[in-house]
Amino acid sequence: MTLRAELADLVLGRACAGCDRGGALLCGPCWTALLTSGPYAPRISGLQVVSAWPYLGRGRRVLLAFKERGTRDLINPLAIALARCMAVVSDHPLIVIPMPPRKQSIAERGIDVVGAIAVRACQMLDRAGQPARPVAALERVGQAPRQVGRGRQERLNLSSTEFRFRTDCDNFSAPVVLVDDVVTTGATLRAATACLRAAGVVPVGQITIAATGTDERPRQPG
Ligand SMILES: [Zn+2]
Repeated sequence: MTLRAELADLVLGRACAGCDRGGALLCGPCWTALLTSGPYAPRISGLQVVSAWPYLGRGRRVLLAFKERGTRDLINPLAIALARCMAVVSDHPLIVIPMPPRKQSIAERGIDVVGAIAVRACQMLDRAGQPARPVAALERVGQAPRQVGRGRQERLNLSSTEFRFRTDCDNFSAPVVLVDDVVTTGATLRAATACLRAAGVVPVGQITIAATGTDERPRQPG
């Protein structure tokens, strides 16, 4: 938390996660900016992704406040961002496969970040009239090393054997989308997609709340 946020928390009870101003979990201008941002369709190393926010500024701060600082009340704006992307990819019923967490992440954060946001996003889309069902179809194989601080090629290599398809999943009767919180090189999404394809499940979209490290400027989905 920044000093300004600490001060706002002290004086006003709460600081906006997006801009550190006091008085609300997420202030009006930040809500508006985040709800009207995107969705974008960045192409990352040849992979077409749909993302709600660029991974910078208030979007990045809100995501980090949820992930790293435990501000769990932010799940709704994050879920709305994900649900908006899901609705852009398809207006049909969807099966939503969240990127599985590393055991270390769960131990550190006490929550499956992507899974929790995906479940909430599905509930929101469901209530809006588009059936959406989360299915935890992927699991991590062993303890893959964290990617932070590694080079792009090293990340791509590390991700190739990272996932396993859970055979106890039920039938996939609707189009499938794969969701994650942030895409950087696309290596993790690519590896998870390959794992699903090998199991005969072809995702119609790869969706993230935020996108960074894009080859080109984000553009609106066509
Ligand atoms: Zn704000």
